[in-house]
Amino acid sequence: LSFSILRSRAVICDRVISRPPRKMASHIVGYPRMGPKRELKFALESFWDKKSSADDLQKVATDLRHSIWKQMAGAGIKYIPSNTFSYYDQVLDTTAMLGAVPERYNFTGGEIGFDTYFSMARGNASVPAMEMTKWFDTNYHFIVPELGPSTKFSYSSRKPVSEYKEAKALGIETVPVLIGPVTYLLLSKPAKGVEKSFSPLTLLGDILPIYKEVITELKAAGASWIQFDEPTLVKDLECHQLEAFTKAYTELESSLSGLNVLVETYFADVPAEAYKVITALKSISGFGFDLVRGTKTLDLVKSVGFPAGKYLFAGIVDGRNIWANDLASSLSTLQALGAIVGKEKLVVSTSCSLMHTAVDLINETKLDSELKSWLAFAAQKVVEVNALAKALADQKDEAFFSANAAAQDSRKSSPRVTNEEVQKAAAALKGSDHRRATNVSARLDAQQKKLNLPILPTTTIGSFPQTMDLRRVRREYKANKISEEEYVKAIKEEINKVVKIQEELDIDVLVHGEPERNDMVEYFGEQLSGFAFTVNGWVQSYGSRCVKPPIIYGDVSRPKAMTVFWSKMAQSMTARPMKGMLTGPVTILNWSFVRNDQPRFETCYQIALAIKKEVEDLEAAGIQVIQIDEAALREGLPLRKSEQAFYLDWAVHSFRITNCGVQDTTQIHTHMCYSNFNDIIHSIIDMDADVITIENSRSDEKLLSVFREGVKYGAGIGPGVYDIHSPRIPSTEEIADRINKMLAVLETNILWVNPDCGLKTRKYAEVKPALTNMVSAAKILRTQL
Ligand code: GLN
Ligand code: ZN
Repeated sequence: LSFSILRSRAVICDRVISRPPRKMASHIVGYPRMGPKRELKFALESFWDKKSSADDLQKVATDLRHSIWKQMAGAGIKYIPSNTFSYYDQVLDTTAMLGAVPERYNFTGGEIGFDTYFSMARGNASVPAMEMTKWFDTNYHFIVPELGPSTKFSYSSRKPVSEYKEAKALGIETVPVLIGPVTYLLLSKPAKGVEKSFSPLTLLGDILPIYKEVITELKAAGASWIQFDEPTLVKDLECHQLEAFTKAYTELESSLSGLNVLVETYFADVPAEAYKVITALKSISGFGFDLVRGTKTLDLVKSVGFPAGKYLFAGIVDGRNIWANDLASSLSTLQALGAIVGKEKLVVSTSCSLMHTAVDLINETKLDSELKSWLAFAAQKVVEVNALAKALADQKDEAFFSANAAAQDSRKSSPRVTNEEVQKAAAALKGSDHRRATNVSARLDAQQKKLNLPILPTTTIGSFPQTMDLRRVRREYKANKISEEEYVKAIKEEINKVVKIQEELDIDVLVHGEPERNDMVEYFGEQLSGFAFTVNGWVQSYGSRCVKPPIIYGDVSRPKAMTVFWSKMAQSMTARPMKGMLTGPVTILNWSFVRNDQPRFETCYQIALAIKKEVEDLEAAGIQVIQIDEAALREGLPLRKSEQAFYLDWAVHSFRITNCGVQDTTQIHTHMCYSNFNDIIHSIIDMDADVITIENSRSDEKLLSVFREGVKYGAGIGPGVYDIHSPRIPSTEEIADRINKMLAVLETNILWVNPDCGLKTRKYAEVKPALTNMVSAAKILRTQL
């Protein structure tokens, strides 16, 4: 008898153990697809290089998807996303789903295969790629759909359905994610030929039937939720754009019936007007809001209210950063929301897809344990979301919460984070605007007396080709395989080579070529205090490309000079002016994971002060021209107009801080690698640089239109005369033609002649003839002026 009791107990125990744990209301917006060690990148590149088959690529992709789903299921997440994997880009996937392939790719129908898909993404031997642009204010780039009145739509990629089924076959129920129809159209551009006359939004009625087909198939496959990402809802939309949301989700209503529908927004607050419009939609059962960047969401929900019976997906775990969540503080925000919308209608979520953060802290072998305790990458954020959901359901994991609280405390009080002196110096900067004493035209005169440059002076942007040898030297030095002496010798030889080449080409203002730099931010971050570096903290930038942003965890200071040694050495090799080459504070900030315990501008001011010291040391070392690159200044521009002026103000101020102390005769250059700056031209002028070099040739010289329209520009300006992103060698005539176009709108005496950007990704076989033609074009035009 006792035996059988024991047995039946064991059975009961077994049942208790094997019953799946009750899933708390937790949700993940999306997950990185590159893999913890960039497995997808390597699989893609090997496939593109024809070193592996489509099957091999698919196998890697399948394994990645499975492990991500299993990991989320294992962590207890209730609403797990599917269709957030992509071979290249989720917007391109939507283009494929809709069959909206531009004509030049000769797509003839059926299911879109790798050939057409990757041709659109990367171009092929005969057709160039589609345009790529930044995804909202992130460093991720998507493939811009090209739509026109004659675009034909057809359901051409069943990926959303097959991913859903694939997860289901593993026993994992998922929420299929689609880019919402309105966001898709608002991110599209009019096709060639109808640029001025066509608005893609007018195609709404044409794409909805395909969305309906997808929805129907998902329903048939058993889906009970569907997620539409509609992040454009956070932007300043016009009335007719907002109306499109009502139109779309009303028209989809009958297809959606029987499904729970989540409309997900991210990257900022949803403006009150848009909030009212979408929360009034009957077909939608849940709304996702970003509570990290959207600091006004809680007030909005409080003041406007929230529709009864609907779900609020609260994006409280930051998808854009690498910091561990402050769980106690999040829990109290969630409780406040729960009191309004009802606890059973509140779902804990991430602020946006986790694809904008690093993948897994577990692979960080070089960070110390204290710093690691302050961090959470995607895998850790999934656990945080679940811990918060459990706590809301009165199943708080006390141990997990108290470990988190201890880590938060240690971060707040750590001497590694705070440097009183830096804090004080940065605080003292507010209020004043730090301008050079003399105006720019007087400065240019003073500089010209010293530099004695010809009209249309020629220069380059900084880097010269980075050869395999060069990369090897840097790697070996880093790994202590060669001595400092050997390293310096190798770099010195390289600089000498680059100087000689430029002298032979007869370029007027030289550069040292940046052979000692791996990356324009990392190089400075490694020498500044307050920065940490990961081994595997990669974030997808576009396609197979990833970046590894440094982590700014503490007050920033500069223990010693960072570039003076090399710049001085380079200047000693030539009688021509040698540009000192620095990365600006705003770019360092925007290309890093930034601390979240002080406003961004404070961190930026600290970096500005460090760069200022470097500028002054360069000047003292006899460097007469100093370039401070602000490649990423525009990238940090907030999505909402109401916030842009404040950002531009402190960003431009930070730049001026770096160089307000130099003499009139020291020439300050800056460089930007994009030209869509027409809307921020006044801020660019306000940077008060002596010379700006800027990307121009790729964007149909859009840049020049601002001057054509009458904006007065008095400082030196060098709109790029040829595209360095392509191996093509521009002819002398072509470059001369470009310069002539510039001369039509800009004064002769302020115009510089230079390429679009740095040359580091090019080969010498391309760079030498291209620069030869550039210099001859400048010389020919000089004789004609
Ligand atoms: N000075 C840098 C270079 O020439 C600038 C790079 C950039 O603007 N992205 O490489
Ligand atoms: Zn550039």
